[in-house]
Amino acid sequence: MTKKVLLKYSAEKTKEPILASIIKETGTLLNILHAEVSAEGGEILLAIDAPDAEVNQIIKLFEQRGIETKELKRAIQLDEEKCFDCGACISLCPTGALRLTDDYSVELDEDKCIYCEICVPSCPVRALKISKF
Ligand code: SF4
Ligand code: SF4
Repeated sequence: MTKKVLLKYSAEKTKEPILASIIKETGTLLNILHAEVSAEGGEILLAIDAPDAEVNQIIKLFEQRGIETKELKRAIQLDEEKCFDCGACISLCPTGALRLTDDYSVELDEDKCIYCEICVPSCPVRALKISKF
């Protein structure tokens, strides 16, 4: 399963090509789901689709370069019994994790979810739920 890791950059670390160097060193493709970085520092949320040992090695490399890391252990569920495909959540989702299928039903691609939780209160029948564990 894809793991999601939040990287916290200090102002000083934003000047270094840390992400690029780790991709080059490991040969692992790191998918950026969300990034908010300025000269003052910031955060990048990565999705890493790799075996556990490889993900752990990548986390270690970021930490060795002075980047704070946090693995996001969350899950989002779409209750298909409750959902009536009104589409209200789709327009709010910033990543396209919620989308319409060809037969106009709503589907969820958890790999794209950044757990922003915007969609949860938008659902009139409480069909979306985020669990933190
Ligand atoms: S929490 Fe909801 S709105 Fe946010 S990215 Fe995930 S599916 Fe989209
Ligand atoms: S807002 Fe709720 S009911 Fe409407 S499509 Fe999204 S999950 Fe389904």
